Amino acid sequence: MDHSDTLEQAAEFARSAFNLMEERGIAATPDNFAIWYLYFAGRDPKMNRSLDTLLKGDEAISMERSAEIHREFILGEGQNTVVHNTATEIKQELNEILKRLGTAGDDAAQYGRTLDTFSEQLAGAEESEAFGAVLSDIATATRAMERQNHDLEQQLESSSSEISRLREDLEDVRREAITDAMTGIFNRRFFDISLREEAVLAEESSENLCLLMIDIDKFKNFNDTYGHLIGDLILKLLANMLTDTIKGRDTASRYGGEEFAVILPETSLQNAVKVAETIRRRTKEKELKNRSTGEIMGRVTVSIGVGCYLLGEDLSDFIARADAALYAAKHAGRDRVLTERQITANMADKS
Ligand code: GH3
Ligand code: MG
Ligand code: MG
Repeated sequence: MDHSDTLEQAAEFARSAFNLMEERGIAATPDNFAIWYLYFAGRDPKMNRSLDTLLKGDEAISMERSAEIHREFILGEGQNTVVHNTATEIKQELNEILKRLGTAGDDAAQYGRTLDTFSEQLAGAEESEAFGAVLSDIATATRAMERQNHDLEQQLESSSSEISRLREDLEDVRREAITDAMTGIFNRRFFDISLREEAVLAEESSENLCLLMIDIDKFKNFNDTYGHLIGDLILKLLANMLTDTIKGRDTASRYGGEEFAVILPETSLQNAVKVAETIRRRTKEKELKNRSTGEIMGRVTVSIGVGCYLLGEDLSDFIARADAALYAAKHAGRDRVLTERQITANMADKS
C-alpha cells in the first residue's frame, strides 16, 4: 500500500466532507463530519444510498435527520466496544505522534495539521466497523510517516555527528600542523605565519613589534654528558617555561633544534629586554635533578638576541638582526641578553 496515497485520499475525503457540509448548511459537528467523511470514503454503500437520496432533495438536511443517520449507520445496533477502544487508542497514538512531529519541519507540520483535524473530529464518532477501517488507514499512514520521520532524524543525527567528527579531525590536523611534536609549543611554520601577520598589524597600527631569538648555551656538552633523552626533557621544560612567561598575543615557538623564538607584538625594545631577562633568569634558576638517580645535573643557561621591527623592512632582515644580537651575546660570553642596538653600538665602537 502506498501510504502517502492513503494520506492524501484521507485528506481529500475530509476536505470534501467539509465543503459539502458548508454547501448544504450542515452543522460542523464531529458526528456530522463522521457521516460525510465516511460518505466520501465510500465505506458503507447502504449509508451512501441513504445519503444520496437525501442530497437529491432540495430541502435542508436537518439536525434531526443527521442525528438519525448517525445513530443508524455510525453507532449501529448497540455499542461496538472493540471499535470504540481501537479508536481511543488510535486517538492517543495520533496525539503522541503529533507531539513528536512538532519539531520535524514543514512537511511534518502540514501532516500534523491534517492529523490534528482528524484527531479533533474523532472525538464523538468512533463506533462502526467502517469508521474503524478508516481509523486504521490513518493509523497505518501515520506510523509510516513516523517511521520516515524517525529514519530522517537518525540520518540527520548520524550526519551531524559525522560532521562534528570530521570537524574535530580537521582541527587536530590543523593543530598538529602548527605544533612542535616534541615540546608541544608552536613550530617554525607557525612562527613564520605569526611573524608575517604581526608585521602587517604593526604596519597598520605603527605599533612596536619585537622578537627574541633564544638559544641554549653549550647544549651539545649537556647532551654529551647526560644523554639526548635528558636533553629532550630540558627542551620541554624550557618550552613550558616560555609559554608560562609570555602573555596575550605573544607567541613562543621552537625555531629549530635548541633554539626558540618569541614574538612580542605591541612591545617596546625596553620591555622586550625585560621579558628576555625574565626568560634568562628563569632558565638558570632551575636546578636539574635526575629523579631516578637523584643526580644533580647542574643548570642550563640561554643567550638571547632582541630585535625590533622597522616598518616596511623585509622579515628576513628583521630576523637577521635579532639573530646577530643572539650571536653577539654568545660571543660576549653567553648567559646574557643583547639587543640589536647594542651590537650596532659595538660595531660603531670598533670602527
Ligand atoms: P652554543 O652555546 O654555541 O649554542 O653551543 P651549543 O652546543 O648549544 O651549540 P651547537 O650549535 O654546537 O649545538 C647545538 C646542540 O643542540 C646540538 C644538539 O646536540 C642539541 N640539540 C639540538 N636539537 C636537539 C634536540 O631536539 N634534542 C636534544 N636533546 N638536543 C638537541
Ligand atoms: Mg643553536
Ligand atoms: Mg646552543
